[in-house]
Amino acid sequence: MLIGDGKIPTGLLRQNINLMRTYPNEAELRNQMAIISNGQVHMANLCVEASHTVNGVSSLHSGIIRDDLFRGFARMTPEKFTNVTNGIAYRRWLCQANPQLDALIEELIGPGFRKDADRLEDLMKYKDDAAVLERLAQIKRENKLRLGQYIKDHNGVTVNPDSIFDVQVKRLHEYKRQLLNLIHIMYLYNRIKEDPSVDIQPRTFIFGAKAAAGYYMAKEIIHLAHCLAAKLEADPAVRDRIRIVFLENYSVSLSELIMPAAEVSEQISLAGKEASGTGNMKLMINGAITLGTEDGANVEIHQAVGDDNIFIFGMKVDEVKRLMDEGSYSPFSIVQSDHNISEVIRLMSQGFGGEQFRDVISSLTTGYNGAADSYFVLADFNSYRQAQERVAATYLDQRKWNSMSLVNIAKAGMFSADRAVREYAERIWNIQPLPEK
Ligand SMILES: *Cc1c(COP(=O)(O)O)cnc(C)c1O
Repeated sequence: MLIGDGKIPTGLLRQNINLMRTYPNEAELRNQMAIISNGQVHMANLCVEASHTVNGVSSLHSGIIRDDLFRGFARMTPEKFTNVTNGIAYRRWLCQANPQLDALIEELIGPGFRKDADRLEDLMKYKDDAAVLERLAQIKRENKLRLGQYIKDHNGVTVNPDSIFDVQVKRLHEYKRQLLNLIHIMYLYNRIKEDPSVDIQPRTFIFGAKAAAGYYMAKEIIHLAHCLAAKLEADPAVRDRIRIVFLENYSVSLSELIMPAAEVSEQISLAGKEASGTGNMKLMINGAITLGTEDGANVEIHQAVGDDNIFIFGMKVDEVKRLMDEGSYSPFSIVQSDHNISEVIRLMSQGFGGEQFRDVISSLTTGYNGAADSYFVLADFNSYRQAQERVAATYLDQRKWNSMSLVNIAKAGMFSADRAVREYAERIWNIQPLPEK
């Protein structure tokens, strides 16, 4: 390495010269783009500088990369920047993981969908077919029973197969906002305690998540989920209405069991933070309905299924950006003015089973190693709560719900990895497929 010798590597020198030539009067932009500046190596800049192509992995995120994060690079080499939206191995996530649904689809539209995911769209002709929708619902129920057995064996609780299976499975990270989900569950708990006769659609909130070994706040949130789960389970007035199941050791194998049983797909990251997501696609192709923000590939799922077959909530990217730039966001004043939220904070501060969650609370209200509520959980809470009410109301109309579920399966073909790999081959790698045998 040349840096230690006091010499400058030629690549760096070339970047410096290029930047001076291209942006002679834009010192701040040059600084943002520099591979080495302020005594640090900027790995993302190095990566963009050295790469043939830069892909944001969803339409929204590719836009953010081009117009915001790496705008200097994009002005200089626009041809480098592209989008190939991520895809999933749907023969695993649908055909293998959900054999009953696979068989039903074959019966309805023939086996062609196993090689050409776009054929799933042929299912659209059944979206008002009562007999087909009934069979779809029956398959979902059997998959819920199968997951229920796993939960019984591993968590020792018996879940109600007629409750809504509301699923958030993904790495534990603050930007993915598992905490928003938990705060909503605590809000429901408070409502039941305030008025035991309140009409709440029974739900099983299923979580699966691993935290990085050194990620303290993520582990605190897992701890909170466990303690809250135990509190709900211990209360006979609550446990058959809202129940938390936290599945240990979240993995692909476990995921193959969860996806076919899911009804609500929680994709609730702060807008602008999730590059694409693929769990959203796995759940969609298994007939779960997305409850999500306009983030990552949720945006494209929304476009594909239309407003009537998804539950969208929360701030959009530009609203989040504005709130960040203004620098005036005050979660503390939300706590003071919003009764539902202050009651949740109060519940959390009482602790569960003797466990307190002071650092989680301060991360929301005063800041813990950073700004207070950096992921705008409290700012999006009311919009999320209202979207959850729409979910519950829609679920009461099973015919409608099943039709929405079918539309999601039918429109999931575009999220096949076959399509993504084909786009890479054609537009990035410049390689031809082998002739089919
Ligand atoms: C699909 C998958 C993920 C990615 O999930 P996201 O919701 O897109 O973050 C993570 N872990 C496992 C085991 C998966 O199967």
